[in-house]
Amino acid sequence: MEEIFNIVEIFYSIEGEGSFVGYPTVFVRLEGCNLRCEWCDTTYSYDGKTFKQLSLKKIIEEIKKYRTKRVCITGGEPLLTKNVDTLIKAVVKEGYYLIIETNGTVFNNRVEEALKSVYPNFYLVVSPKPEVKYNINQSLLKYINEFKFVVDEYITLKDILKYESLYKLKPLILQPERNKKEFIKKALKLQEELLKKDIEARVIPQCQKFMGLM
Ligand code: SF4
Repeated sequence: MEEIFNIVEIFYSIEGEGSFVGYPTVFVRLEGCNLRCEWCDTTYSYDGKTFKQLSLKKIIEEIKKYRTKRVCITGGEPLLTKNVDTLIKAVVKEGYYLIIETNGTVFNNRVEEALKSVYPNFYLVVSPKPEVKYNINQSLLKYINEFKFVVDEYITLKDILKYESLYKLKPLILQPERNKKEFIKKALKLQEELLKKDIEARVIPQCQKFMGLM
């Protein structure tokens, strides 16, 4: 049976956030999210009407229109999509390096099996969210490559330190909400506080927004 996905958009841009900032990337945005973050800038990804149904074959065809080596599966919350495991496997099978952006709350056996089967050709970025007190599904922890926290008016040092033991091994990114000056200042302050605990965080704004890109 043909695999069908609810796709909000597939587009080519540069990676604007996190460790791969600046690299040409194709983004596949899946529909749906289980959270409702106050400052969400992709609310159209879960409004229930801004998507089309595409087959796996069609998605791969769209991706292949661009000469990039990187594909980012994002959302919404991409791991909510029931058959996302088949998309993960197919993208990597086509020779792409796969970046997955998740809020870290959703995980299941199918996703785990897919991640194991494509290891090490993926990079899992988890952005813990205030709505769920920055909690992450414990089974996902060992597959995380990078932590990214949005620095908003509420986040505290204690929230970030929730995963303290992992920051020696995985990059920790602080991303000021909507690149606002007050949150850039707060992120730099948090960076300083983290350094006192020998944790080196990187402050990286949403570069695509500075450049007026998607
Ligand atoms: S998890 Fe992401 S997509 Fe979902 S509401 Fe929060 S910011 Fe928006």
